[in-house]
Amino acid sequence: MTLRLHNTLSGTKEDFEPLEEGQVRMYTCGPTVWNYAHVGNLRAFLFYDLVRRHLRVAGYRVTHVMNLTDIDDRILDQAMHAGTTIAEYVAPYVAAFFEDMATLRAERAEHYPRATEHIPEMVDMIATLIENENAYIADGDVYFRIASFPAYGALSHLDRAGLKAGARVATDKYDKESVSDFALWKKPQPADEKLGAVWDAPFGRGRPGWHIECSAMSRRYLGDTLDIHAGGVDLTFPHHENEIAQSEAANHKQFARVWLHSEFLADATGEKMSKSAGGFTTLRDLVGAGHDPLAIRFFLIANAHYRSRMRLSSEALHAAAEQVRRLREFADRVNRTPPAATDDVELAQRIADVRAAYRAALDDDLNLPQGVGFVFDLIREANAALDAGRVGPLNKGSLQAMLDDVDAHVDVIRAQEPGLADEVERLIAEREDARRGRDFAKADRIRDDLRVRGIVLEDSKDGVRWRRVAPSG
Ligand code: AMP
Ligand code: ZN
Repeated sequence: MTLRLHNTLSGTKEDFEPLEEGQVRMYTCGPTVWNYAHVGNLRAFLFYDLVRRHLRVAGYRVTHVMNLTDIDDRILDQAMHAGTTIAEYVAPYVAAFFEDMATLRAERAEHYPRATEHIPEMVDMIATLIENENAYIADGDVYFRIASFPAYGALSHLDRAGLKAGARVATDKYDKESVSDFALWKKPQPADEKLGAVWDAPFGRGRPGWHIECSAMSRRYLGDTLDIHAGGVDLTFPHHENEIAQSEAANHKQFARVWLHSEFLADATGEKMSKSAGGFTTLRDLVGAGHDPLAIRFFLIANAHYRSRMRLSSEALHAAAEQVRRLREFADRVNRTPPAATDDVELAQRIADVRAAYRAALDDDLNLPQGVGFVFDLIREANAALDAGRVGPLNKGSLQAMLDDVDAHVDVIRAQEPGLADEVERLIAEREDARRGRDFAKADRIRDDLRVRGIVLEDSKDGVRWRRVAPSG
């Protein structure tokens, strides 16, 4: 099976193949920690989680980097009003970000570099760009010269005719109408010193612009060329366009081979949720209102394809909670039901077909909503088969395996599967018995079955312990 991903660069779905066989280098734009993440941000972050989980399901090793923007115009502004340094100001929001990600069971990236801890890498890259005449100093700031990079605009399919040669923009965010040379480095403002936001550089003291951080930190951890770069669709222009210009001008290599962009989450009125606009909902708000965090997770990844817009509403959240409940209840029922004496051949075929269709949906540009739809159809049929006592031992095993396939992405079933801990403890005891009785074949079988379900056993001096990993097999 081939994994196909929609590449913004080409505007089409392409067969995915990393540069190095079996190994994927992925960079995803992380949070600006000037406030709590809103659920729109979380949609993007859980999209990254879906990508990384499916890459692993597809057999790749993944090195995933997600940056934390801990310096930008807004953070400086807020810290000044709060009378703190930027480091003091962002600390609680950094902690809140990691808490939110854990609450939503996002897998941890391999690296979470912070902008303020990678200033030398940025200074280095800016110095190279100045040397290559891709950047120039104007009035104490350093700007990237767009005219020096003919490919500028390729990602966002920008009409270069509209570019104003020589015009400059100092703010980090701007729209296509005002596209012009953008700031790589900004001279200090009077308050910046006290905010702890000024660094030395051969081209003058100051602080980095927003865009350079991703180019510098991705190179530091992943090298010149990324297999995948992902972000929310609003980052395509100017942020990602600027990242490409900086990186390719400095490194003379293609920056990212595949660009993935996830769509907006809209609020109940249909507007893009945004912190600057004021009307935003955080995970804390929703959990405080009684929503199960894992239903929120399920809603954000499985309600709509990542390239479709979706709207946050309490009806949609309740519908997601109901789907999660059905998945867990079905998993529990399958586990509890003693198998019939014989297997149902037709059911066996249906389960095999659905597992294949689920995998094919995910391989087709991560179409999780479609894949989950197939599974719910089968759950209805399997419930009828369970009612009729037609589910044999192999049927039961493949239903469990199917749920494991789904949980490898959604991770809401076993996370709170009723009775799981008891069942695992019982199997561990059974395995110990088998070992004492020198029935090593049986002991190994129990261990292997658990491994397939994503549970590994570890022998320690306090006895056997178990922990979860991604399911295999
Ligand atoms: P920020 O913290 O503003 O740098 O944004 C972090 C991530 O959230 C970026 O990938 C944005 O594209 C994404 N994002 C921002 N607003 C929304 C939204 N309403 N829906 C989905 N993603 C969003
Ligand atoms: Zn970025």
